Amino acid sequence: VCPVGALHENDHTWKLVKDLADPKKKVIVQVAPAVRVALGEEFGEEPGTNVTGKMVTGLRQLGFDQVFDTNWAADLTIMEEASEFKDRLERFLGGDKDVKLPLLTSCCPAWVKFFEHNYQDMLDVPSSAKSPQQMFGAVAKGIWAKEEGISREDLIVVSVMPCLAKKYETSRDEFKVDGNPDVDYSISTRELAKLLKQANIDLTLLETSEFDNPLGESSGAADIFGRTGGVIEAAVRTAYEWVTGETLENLDFKALRGFEGFRSATVKVGDLDLNIGIAHGLGEARTMLDKIRAGEANYHAIEIMACKGGCVGGGGQPYHHGDFSVVTRRAEGLQNIDDNKTMRKSHENKFVQDLYEKHLDKPMSHKAHDLLHTKYFPKQKV
Ligand code: SF4
Repeated sequence: VCPVGALHENDHTWKLVKDLADPKKKVIVQVAPAVRVALGEEFGEEPGTNVTGKMVTGLRQLGFDQVFDTNWAADLTIMEEASEFKDRLERFLGGDKDVKLPLLTSCCPAWVKFFEHNYQDMLDVPSSAKSPQQMFGAVAKGIWAKEEGISREDLIVVSVMPCLAKKYETSRDEFKVDGNPDVDYSISTRELAKLLKQANIDLTLLETSEFDNPLGESSGAADIFGRTGGVIEAAVRTAYEWVTGETLENLDFKALRGFEGFRSATVKVGDLDLNIGIAHGLGEARTMLDKIRAGEANYHAIEIMACKGGCVGGGGQPYHHGDFSVVTRRAEGLQNIDDNKTMRKSHENKFVQDLYEKHLDKPMSHKAHDLLHTKYFPKQKV
């Protein structure tokens, strides 16, 4: 039993090739933020080079019917996670002694599996929000497919991830409806590069093109999900405006950035001093969780990612052969994308707002909870 699900490395590229060739199947793809700043390395580009537009063109040339963006679902994740955080915080400040803080982020399936094995007494501490990959699948099959008149069985949802644990995440029973998974399977950045090469597609020679909508538009906050500290920074950008009712002018929470294994910062949100922690690497996570369990950690929210550097350093990315500067350059690439976007807050994403208006009412509504939240289960200690 792999405690983080990373040994679940099934190569689904042949299955994908067959699905793409099947005229009865509608095959759509979502791509995680960290992929776009690493895929180019397989084609001779420098680490951190943003190949988003060329990658979208390449995916269309491979035969995907629609090319969507996991970033869109990252914005959706922030809507739910920031709402959950605001709710827990308000109850805590109102004197509710049962409320669980710090809120722990739950986007990383390796870290989720790790605490299910090792911290079974703390399963109600992490956010119940599904990861962006799984939120995407739930919306694609649960809402988008119905609007498009596509049956669940005929729709194949593929993800391209920097991650091997994401393959395992797609197979979890709670992410299936009558045995049919929300995300059918996941391929890694390296596997996408292999497929492009097998199809004689040279990424560097492609024209750029845009993601499809409505599941393709995203904020800069979504891009930084791919680096350590990014999820919590994205959540703070939204939580700040929701808690204070004021517009956040300076979006760059530089105190939350960096690459130390565990770092912490106090962020002023109105009259509140929020203590934020960030851990990457499971050794750091274990130290932090032991402190929380012992009541020694005074944090309101903590981001935890299993990989050093966050998803830019994921196990499905091009090999960096131990050169961590490759990982930091990918992280800088994501920061550049965020810096250069006009829309940099998740709650400003018009397509996410439309989803709530038409289908889910508001974040943390019953409908949103049913579709976008999950539960954690105790697993055998390893
Ligand atoms: Fe996957 Fe690593 Fe990212 Fe976790 S931090 S989601 S294991 S790539």
